[in-house]
Amino acid sequence: KDTLLTRPSWIEIDLGAIQENAQSIMAHAGAKRLIAVVKADGYGHGATPVANALYEIGVRDFAVATIGEGIKLRQELAYQDYRIVLLGVQDIAHVDVMVKYRLSPAIESIDWLSVALQAIPEGATLDVELAVDTGMGRMGAHSKEAVYSVYRYIKNNDKLELGGVFTHFATADDSNIGYYKQQAQRFNDWVTAAGIPRQYWHLANSGSALWHTQEIDTRTIRVGSVLYGYNPGAPLLTLPIPLKHVFALKSRIGAVHQLITGESVSYGATYTAQKPQWVATLPIGYADGYLRRMAGMRVLINGKVTYVIGRITMDQIVIALDQAYPIGTEVTLIGRDGDNEITVEEFADYANTIPHEILTSFGPRLPRIYK
Ligand code: PLP
Repeated sequence: KDTLLTRPSWIEIDLGAIQENAQSIMAHAGAKRLIAVVKADGYGHGATPVANALYEIGVRDFAVATIGEGIKLRQELAYQDYRIVLLGVQDIAHVDVMVKYRLSPAIESIDWLSVALQAIPEGATLDVELAVDTGMGRMGAHSKEAVYSVYRYIKNNDKLELGGVFTHFATADDSNIGYYKQQAQRFNDWVTAAGIPRQYWHLANSGSALWHTQEIDTRTIRVGSVLYGYNPGAPLLTLPIPLKHVFALKSRIGAVHQLITGESVSYGATYTAQKPQWVATLPIGYADGYLRRMAGMRVLINGKVTYVIGRITMDQIVIALDQAYPIGTEVTLIGRDGDNEITVEEFADYANTIPHEILTSFGPRLPRIYK
């Protein structure tokens, strides 16, 4: 691995595992079509390699959050016959760019569309995704009447094309069934009343595709987390199907030394050796996304468990060793080593957050290596 511009700390991504996860979730949900959510650079995995791998197994729809993410994907993906959906609110000032790069924005109102029309050149069309807010409270047409009138407006306009109609669930990955059912019911009622054919519907995020396949239409699913191999409902809910782990975070020992009794490690001198203690320094820190609150976390070396000691610093951490190890010895911070494994779910739980936040926090100083 070339570490001239970076350091011997890196992320390993198993693209074959992403392909398998896509196939498993489609089979489990009975889905015919999958919209792969690759926003935030593919949840930190690299949107282009992930999309390329999914394209190879037949995926033709990708969802991102920003126009910039959409343009990058359009320019970098080797193929052209696929759709890019822009989730979330979009700046009306850039409708011309959406037309040019064939980006399909989520829209919620006639107000937005009527302004957008002025920026669509003669003969061109803007493909739009009708967002329905059934209880997430972020964006979307928010009543039966609103869904009906926005849909009519799209249908009656030559410059507008309907790509899909969707909603996003607030509680798909927790045990709050009542709220979930209410959202599903609203979508069903409003969209059916508007007369929008089923082939346009896509409701299921990962939690829905895993745990709610009986309650909603899952012919098209729109998922992120499951592709990346982690349980979005951890630790409360268990997975109904096995998912392959995709992501590993690794580093190599950069320095080894022995503390004498009473010597401390890192800022604040919070860890003090009670006996002579071998320690190693790894070239990774909170500026890479190894969060400051990971002090005391487990890491794996030669298949054995050891711990981060002292405070996490911006660029380096220190781990305890049971003996002196050679410089360059590989250390696993997330992933499997022998019989032991540190999962993304465990890592996130330790950091008091969810895997999504962990995976999107690893920075550009960590090269992504694909296999
Ligand atoms: N759909 C929308 C509108 C989203 O915002 C997201 C992600 O936050 C997803 C789908 C994918 O969610 P998940 O990663 O839970 O599958």
